[in-house]
Amino acid sequence: MRSMRAAELPGVGLPIRMVARNVPHPGAGEARIRVDACGVCGSDLLLQDGGLGPNVTFPVVPGHEAAGVVDAVGDGVDGLAVGDQVALYYVDCPPDSKFKAIGRENLHPGMTRMGVDIDGAFAEYVVRPAHSLIKTPRYIDPSALAVLTDAVATPYHAVVTRANVSATDTVVVIGIGGLGSNAVQLAAKRGARVIAVSRSIEKLELAKRLGAAESVVSNEYTRAQISHLTNGSGPDVVIQCVGSPEQDALAIEMAGAGGRVVLVGASALPFQARALDILWKELTIFGSCRFTSDEIRAVIDLYLDGSIDVSHLVSGARPLEEANQALDDLRNGTVLRSVLQPWL
Ligand SMILES: [Zn+2]
Repeated sequence: MRSMRAAELPGVGLPIRMVARNVPHPGAGEARIRVDACGVCGSDLLLQDGGLGPNVTFPVVPGHEAAGVVDAVGDGVDGLAVGDQVALYYVDCPPDSKFKAIGRENLHPGMTRMGVDIDGAFAEYVVRPAHSLIKTPRYIDPSALAVLTDAVATPYHAVVTRANVSATDTVVVIGIGGLGSNAVQLAAKRGARVIAVSRSIEKLELAKRLGAAESVVSNEYTRAQISHLTNGSGPDVVIQCVGSPEQDALAIEMAGAGGRVVLVGASALPFQARALDILWKELTIFGSCRFTSDEIRAVIDLYLDGSIDVSHLVSGARPLEEANQALDDLRNGTVLRSVLQPWL
């Protein structure tokens, strides 16, 4: 049995360690992928901090944002061949699930999540159900392809599928990180006027480069500034990308009449909202969780036609052995995304 290198998280609060694992074998309906790149994301920090709940079994190999090449296929796999470049959808939703039928496989209750419930792509190889693999129309830089599968697909789900942002909308994006920066460019591409909110001047400059028309430094005057910029009427859409109950409440307060508020940032803490703020303004509050495999296809197409820039997400690739530094970079805010390349 061949062995491979994997970066394993032994438990909550512990550093990642390198281990040797057997190279997994694809069963019927599965394919083995040689992992070329895997993004390191805020949910990996949550996993390490114990924020993904008590049902995670450790040790686990993280890694849910991955791209690679098909290395072996099991029986009964159609449409995929050894050598095909693929993006990996980390949710396993059976094709016959009713959630798949209604286009909401991201919510399938029985899902297993690669890199959380089962070992993920901080490894040289992973085996995945063939139906969860997305073949690329043409070759894409592996780091770019990896971050498209989550860092771009997650805000795509929020901006396009949930909020249905259009050219007539004024959209406020709160938090310009790995998700918010892409919410900015996706909303701007749809023709919306985008106002970026962040504590960081540097991130606001990035937001402007990605298409934000205006930017507001996050402080106690944020709501007043947004009100001023929208002539007192408030934005049509607020995309809240910060894991903060205060920012959740602010998003609801600042939204204009008839507005849509999308909560993308993950906070386990309760927040307070005035029911009257929701009722008088007839707000629609959307939760936005994950994305579907079709949304990965959509962002790949946007990337290939030049509509999406991911250069701000893929600056420094590290080998698997530097997984802890990659997590630290993200935790310290020195990068918006880290990418691991097992074959670097
Ligand atoms: Zn993620």
